[in-house]
Amino acid sequence: MNTSTVSAPNSALETYEQVAAASNEVAGLLAKRLKTETQGEVLFSAADRGRYATDASIYQVTPLGVFVPKHAKEVATAMAICRDLKVPIVPRGGGTSQCGQTTGVGLVIDHSKHVRNILNLDLTAGTVEVQPGIALDALNASLKKHGVWFPVDVSTSAQATLGGMAGNNSCGSRSIAYGNMVHNVLGAKAWLSDGELLDFSQFENSSGRARQIGEFVKQLAVQHQADLQNHWPKVLRRVAGYNLDIFDNQNVRPYTPDGKVNLSHLLVGSEGTLAMTQSLTLKLSELPTSKVLGVVNFNSFYKAMDSAQHIAKLGSGTLTAVELVDRTMIELSLKIPAFAATIRTAIIGDPEAILLVEFAGSDKEKLKHELKQLVALMGDMGLPNSVVEMVDDAPQKNLWEVRKAGLNIMMSLKGDGKPVSFIEDCAVPLEHLAEYTDALTQVFQKHGTKGTWYAHASVGTLHVRPILDMRRDGPQKMRAIAEEASALVRKYKGAYSGEHGDGLCRGEWIEWQFGPAIQQAFGQIKQHLDPLNLLSPNRMVNPPKMDDTSLMRFGNNYKIIPIQTALDWSAWNVHNDAATEQTTAPGTGQDPAQGLAKAVEMCNNNGTCRKFDAGTMCPSFRVTRDEMHATRGRANTLRLALSGQLQGGLESPEVKEALDLCVGCKGCKRDCPTGVDMARMKIEVQHHYNAKHGLPLKDTLISNLPRYAHIASQWPRLMNLRNQWPWLARLAESLTGLSAERSWPEWKKEHFFNSQRVGVSAQEVLAASKPVVLFVDTFNGYFESENAWAAFDVLSAAGYQVHIASRTSQDAPSQHLCCGRTYLASGQVSKAKEHAQALLEALLPFAQKGIAIVGLEPSCLLTLRDESLVMGLGEMADTVAAHAVLFEEFLATENKAGKLDALKAQLTPAKKPILLHGHCHQKAFGMMPSITQVIQLIPQAKVDLIESSCCGMAGSFGYEASHLEVSKQMAEASLLPSIRLQQDACVVADGTSCRHQIMDGTAREAMHVALLLAQHLPK
Ligand SMILES: Cc1cc2nc3c(=O)[nH]c(=O)nc-3n(C[C@H](O)[C@H](O)[C@H](O)COP(=O)(O)OP(=O)(O)OC[C@H]3O[C@@H](n4cnc5c(N)ncnc54)[C@H](O)[C@@H]3O)c2cc1C
Ligand code: SF4
Ligand code: SF4
Repeated sequence: MNTSTVSAPNSALETYEQVAAASNEVAGLLAKRLKTETQGEVLFSAADRGRYATDASIYQVTPLGVFVPKHAKEVATAMAICRDLKVPIVPRGGGTSQCGQTTGVGLVIDHSKHVRNILNLDLTAGTVEVQPGIALDALNASLKKHGVWFPVDVSTSAQATLGGMAGNNSCGSRSIAYGNMVHNVLGAKAWLSDGELLDFSQFENSSGRARQIGEFVKQLAVQHQADLQNHWPKVLRRVAGYNLDIFDNQNVRPYTPDGKVNLSHLLVGSEGTLAMTQSLTLKLSELPTSKVLGVVNFNSFYKAMDSAQHIAKLGSGTLTAVELVDRTMIELSLKIPAFAATIRTAIIGDPEAILLVEFAGSDKEKLKHELKQLVALMGDMGLPNSVVEMVDDAPQKNLWEVRKAGLNIMMSLKGDGKPVSFIEDCAVPLEHLAEYTDALTQVFQKHGTKGTWYAHASVGTLHVRPILDMRRDGPQKMRAIAEEASALVRKYKGAYSGEHGDGLCRGEWIEWQFGPAIQQAFGQIKQHLDPLNLLSPNRMVNPPKMDDTSLMRFGNNYKIIPIQTALDWSAWNVHNDAATEQTTAPGTGQDPAQGLAKAVEMCNNNGTCRKFDAGTMCPSFRVTRDEMHATRGRANTLRLALSGQLQGGLESPEVKEALDLCVGCKGCKRDCPTGVDMARMKIEVQHHYNAKHGLPLKDTLISNLPRYAHIASQWPRLMNLRNQWPWLARLAESLTGLSAERSWPEWKKEHFFNSQRVGVSAQEVLAASKPVVLFVDTFNGYFESENAWAAFDVLSAAGYQVHIASRTSQDAPSQHLCCGRTYLASGQVSKAKEHAQALLEALLPFAQKGIAIVGLEPSCLLTLRDESLVMGLGEMADTVAAHAVLFEEFLATENKAGKLDALKAQLTPAKKPILLHGHCHQKAFGMMPSITQVIQLIPQAKVDLIESSCCGMAGSFGYEASHLEVSKQMAEASLLPSIRLQQDACVVADGTSCRHQIMDGTAREAMHVALLLAQHLPK
């Protein structure tokens, strides 16, 4: 199945008619020609245009359409069509720019999906030629085995593309050692807007049009020599404007080691306004084999800033980074479970700031010596015992992850006030850093806000974002603060735009920075290379005002449509205080969508959900690479729907389509830096969609399973016929949409709920010395009873008195309990609530007594700790949630308390290696350490965690014919290949669906951890 998003209909004519009717004649023609003349994706629906109207900035400009080329040559075709129709072009990579570089009115060309090949790796020359859409991490992953890397290590390395990095002249944390993009690009092949493909490389060897462009720019540099000398900031980090100084270097680090002019450097930092990059040739660096990190703790922020200039002189060439993390960031990190332990390893007492000082090279002993020099320096500066020395790789790597997440950590603030990027990368010479930061902090205070400082102290580029409310007085305050900040930058002879580029936000400051003559020269360069003004017009030349609210995401007309939500979103419905960051009580934020809109607006478009590394988020993006199927695309779609920018609101087909491949894995709940919880949002959205469109048969069938399971299980032969007769499976598929290719879980006459193992009574467990309540869910109870029995046996063997949770009401048709998950999965919140209520009532007496409620199926048990809390079930939901634990979590805790000696004494040694796959919800709730620890209770157990995202089955998702292929692709991304690689291993997976997917894809039987432990008990 083709999972790509071709929103326009099949024939070019239809495309034209639909787009022209919805938009305008030119858009229709453009879409039709793209459709006829290319194989790329032609995305012109309102939702697609809306999704590409934003990047990681505060701006929103809706493009005419979006084109996702299949091949590089289709970029040229699209450019030719745009030229004919006079449609501007906005080149785009990952769309992570912070200044609005990728927001524009024309045709957005997204390179990140297909145009991402490595074209030529020359290890002898130490160069690589790449297409612009390749992400930095993807490139470096393939270079690693050769001992080299591309060292411009931007924080967004997982999603930033090389084309975008060159476009912005990006800079990494280690720029003190490696420089910016401009220092590391050796050549570019690029199309001018008239269609000519040029080779931009060494000026002295160039000929033809490229040579002529070089001559033109050279003559401008000569003409403006005095202005260049007088107005050009003399710092490493200056990325504003065009690099006119390639012919008269002003950077503290020359662009080329030999001083020869490279014409590709003219394109670097030009933000797609001069030419469209077809490929880039990059300089590779040796991958350092050793690194050491010194974390210097300061009790005054000023002192930290003042020390940076001295620290930057250390290392005799091995110093690679000096990065700041301030008090606020430390405190925020301490509150985030994923970061708390790591940050504690770096701090001594209660520091106001820490500096991460890294030395890298090939000789660890030499680096350790450098570290000692840092310690000595700090001693000399009156700060003895202030350095945490990290010599091993693991703690260093963990701490860098926290630093890299810095901005995102800050962005997790709830409420309308958000840290806003507009002066966040001003660069000043190091000797002025302390005074500059001090003065700017006072500016923030004067305007009733505050900013958190972090990042590149080594090169005088400290990131800071004052908290502003862009729906109210934010734009005015932004202007006022920018004026005062710019005066400071001028006073200290710095660069106003030192890392993130110009875009919409800083375009107007280019002239301020360089003066009118140089600005005019920039205009001439633009005119010379792009006389048609086709490439991102009105950006670096003739830019709009930074505070033009008509270009903003939360502009003047932004309004939320009132809705009644099914779930409780009040935690997001708050106001915050810009100066203190305190938030008001839940529910007081005046969100007409009762907090849902504010939850959706937490997405700041940073694009972390486009990553491919460890973690779960976002499985559907991982397999489709479609913007629509990333958490960001979904959040943007919902924002558009909730704010009336998408016709039909939450009930629209566009919203349904955007959420269709969301597997509800909760990967984003954990991995998204601002905590966008799309799984929960999908429940809410489905609720609204069902209310308008009704419930499909398949959802009725699946959701009601807990209701009819006790009846169906009495007729197992009949119920299982569907699995035996292919024609019946096909008939079922045509009626329900559930794929005939998938087997359905097998019904059994004897199952846990009608077995003899009854456990102790409620009264007995309430009085027991080692009490535990076992909550057996529908799936483990009816279909895989062996897991429930195993759990019962293991808990009993460990000496617990086990009570099986059952309904309190005797007249219920079945005594088994259900958390309501099957209903939630299809948005039936009120039915889910009924079930959850019965479950909570049954469990409450035990929870009130502090007895642990142990569950087996992650998605069922964790419903008690997640959705149950937002269904209006009152205090009892909180009480039960506080005691609801997964089987492995319970055992891991009890083991730590020394209560499992009896069990451990009985466990027999493992005979096979164990492969562990985590259920997405286990991962989202940070349970993987528990299950690993519990497996290790088995003597000689050797457990390997499979680095996998979602298995792709995700409840009923993988059963549906329309999702079958995507489901398989998710499983094939890493889970199934890892299992196939280890034929002798025993596979552990706690999720029912995960086990099913593993069986379907590898014919291997995976088991619940309870069963694994039970198998190691004596018979
Ligand atoms: C949380 C966060 C952290 C960040 N950290 C850093 C950091 O550490 N260092 C840093 O420098 N930046 C940082 N950035 C900014 C941004 O991530 C970088 O500038 C990144 O390199 C942009 O890559 P991209 O693929 O997203 O480019 P995009 O945003 O898609 O595009 C960037 C520019 O390049 C142009 N472009 C893209 N492709 C082409 C092409 N084929 N031809 C011509 N022009 C093209 C675009 O038009 C645009 O002007 C950060 C951003 C965020 C949100
Ligand atoms: S969903 Fe989260 S990770 Fe994705 S862009 Fe939005 S804030 Fe970033
Ligand atoms: S719940 Fe999973 S699939 Fe859905 S958006 Fe979040 S990470 Fe992606």
